Amino acid sequence: MAKIKYPFLDLGQVNAPYAKELADALMRVLRSGRYIGGEEVDAFEEELARTIGCKYVVGCGNGMDALVFMLAAYKRRLGKPIDIIIPGNTYIASVLAAVHTGLKPIYADIDVKTLNMETSNLERYVTPDTRIIMTVHLYGRACFDKNLKDFASRHDLVVVEDNAQAIGAMVNGIHTGALGDAAAFSFYPTKNLGALGDAGAVTTNDKEIADCVRALGNYGSDRRYHNIYAEGRNSRLDPMQAAILRVKLPYLIHENTHRREVASIYEREITNPHIIKPTFVTDGSMVWHQYVIISDHRDELRQYLATNGVGTDIHYPTMPYHQPCMRTESGTCLPVCDSIEHKLLSLPISSCTSTSEAYEIAQIINNFRQ
Ligand SMILES: *Cc1c(COP(=O)(O)O)cnc(C)c1O
Repeated sequence: MAKIKYPFLDLGQVNAPYAKELADALMRVLRSGRYIGGEEVDAFEEELARTIGCKYVVGCGNGMDALVFMLAAYKRRLGKPIDIIIPGNTYIASVLAAVHTGLKPIYADIDVKTLNMETSNLERYVTPDTRIIMTVHLYGRACFDKNLKDFASRHDLVVVEDNAQAIGAMVNGIHTGALGDAAAFSFYPTKNLGALGDAGAVTTNDKEIADCVRALGNYGSDRRYHNIYAEGRNSRLDPMQAAILRVKLPYLIHENTHRREVASIYEREITNPHIIKPTFVTDGSMVWHQYVIISDHRDELRQYLATNGVGTDIHYPTMPYHQPCMRTESGTCLPVCDSIEHKLLSLPISSCTSTSEAYEIAQIINNFRQ
């Protein structure tokens, strides 16, 4: 196979521009003697709250735990049973968090234009136990509109966001993470704001939810040696990761701007009729965590691109409701999700793909099957 000239993602290269600042931040933590909680974590939580425009941020060990604690906090408030509406094409973590918390996922179909939840006909998913709807801003595209808001208020539903992929995106001037009642973030290294390891957070304006999430990630204790919940775990934001995220947060706008530039080149330059490009918007609601195209010849295209030195990935190869662990859930009928399941392909779009490389990749794509 040809050498990969255009890697899909090279995290070393993504973080290289920040090397000096990151090293300084890590030394600061080392010298502080404070290796759990403390100033770095407090400061990152405050800086993220200011960036997103929400009152409370609670750091967690990773995005999955952020989702679990967020849902567990609402379960404590709402009682059982709870059905939760979740888009059928999300990453498995959204679904596992619901199942882990004892919530029943009801999968919703998607809009083929946005690859996000279809919000115009959500009534069909409502059951007597529906209490929560989870919007997932998949691939970096905010999914939050009037339909969703009206639907949630009509049925008195809590709206939670899985904002692992869309930090920095905005809808009508409001950041993802501040659109619903609470949101879970992941700072997994590949995300638009990535740590050098695992990290996550919950954002909300609801103090009771924030306090509950904080306690659940710290042995269920609200203060030292005082345990209020018997379901707590240990999943706190690591100060090393907080210090790293503090370095990278101010550059997020720059990173997202670069992703938008690469996306606009793909949008303009890719003209191959075998490829459906993602819907392009310039309203700030998309931060291009992934640039996902649809092709009837996906596997052949992927092979062709690899042969021509272009690294690609697939997000995701199997829908959560088709995973072996989920197959017992019967009655799932998601024609749009089903129709694209084997056609998705993600092109390189991180800061390690330059704009001139994006032009070259577009030309290579245009020569496929032509
Ligand atoms: C990455 C991701 C998660 C999980 O985050 P981790 O930090 O890896 O646990 C959850 N949901 C979505 C949509 C993600 O992309």
